[in-house]
Amino acid sequence: MQHAVPPAHEAAGWSAPALSVVIPIYNEQEALPLTVARLRPILDGMGIDYEVVGVDDGSTDATAMIMQKIHQDWPELRTVRFARNSGHQAALTAGIHRARGEYVVSIDADLQDPPEKIVEMYELALEKDLDIVYGVRSDRGTDTFFKRRTAGVYYWLMRKLVGKSMPNQAGDFRLLSRAAVDALKSLPEHQPVYRLLVPWLGFNSGEVVYVREERVAGSTHYPLSKMVRLALDSITNFSASPLRLATWLGLLSFLVCFCLAIYTTLQYTFGSTVPGWSSLFIGMLFIGGVQLICVGLLGEYIGRIYSAVQARPAYFVGYDSAEDTAVAVRK
Ligand code: UDP
Ligand code: MG
Repeated sequence: MQHAVPPAHEAAGWSAPALSVVIPIYNEQEALPLTVARLRPILDGMGIDYEVVGVDDGSTDATAMIMQKIHQDWPELRTVRFARNSGHQAALTAGIHRARGEYVVSIDADLQDPPEKIVEMYELALEKDLDIVYGVRSDRGTDTFFKRRTAGVYYWLMRKLVGKSMPNQAGDFRLLSRAAVDALKSLPEHQPVYRLLVPWLGFNSGEVVYVREERVAGSTHYPLSKMVRLALDSITNFSASPLRLATWLGLLSFLVCFCLAIYTTLQYTFGSTVPGWSSLFIGMLFIGGVQLICVGLLGEYIGRIYSAVQARPAYFVGYDSAEDTAVAVRK
């Protein structure tokens, strides 16, 4: 998917800023003003040209209105609004594709990623000439027990699949150079999972350690269903090994059935008249379970092949302040 730089932006005579900050935003009416209040002085204090690309992922609360208001007072904030909720990764895609900076930082809208660390990331990238700086969570004490456990399993599994190049506990708070952004933009991914794709790119990378803070307001938009979707996208994006797992499960079930067959034959031979319905029932359940798992796995991959063939865009932009000539003229 190619996203051309909007002409209105060019017409406004903007040159590429040194830094772009991408923020995916979904129903953050309480958190957003607090985030902006903390982020803006930090960016202003860096003494560089910057832009902020706020991607409203189809919010249904007052987020759009609040963003519009902030934009009027803070022209560096570009507001992009999706036609409907398309997911965190799609919002990141839109932001990364529209960002024009030499470096691009992505950060959550709920202040769980401390914006002060942007300065550290930027300075580290310049100093060591890095293309990627990961924000690595040193402490998830503010997350729930459930979130910590599931995240632990997720990162363990992903590092097995992607390899050790994926830093442990690195989410979507990171800095990318223009070269890394252009590399990402050239990928034809339909359901990108950036925390896996970015380490896969290679490039020189560094880390900035931070403490994951408490969500400043509102509540998480990552219910179990979205977490499962992200995990499935992550696995199927990067590995066909679950398909191999299906083969192993099939072999295992064959082995168990073979043993059961010997056991039943021996019982029959030695005249035991145990009805044997339980072993039959267990065997049937087991095979049925294995078959369902295998069919489910195939379904996951086929579903992804199907949506890749359909080639539908991952999101639709309903509004972009950079293309809004009325706003551009006002500026
Ligand atoms: N988000 C989004 N679309 C969604 C869900 C979340 O753009 O469908 C944004 C959200 O506004 C926040 C970031 O993605 O800026 C991370 O979401 P959240 O804080 O709810 O997730 P958690 O930190 O609990 O994993
Ligand atoms: Mg959060």
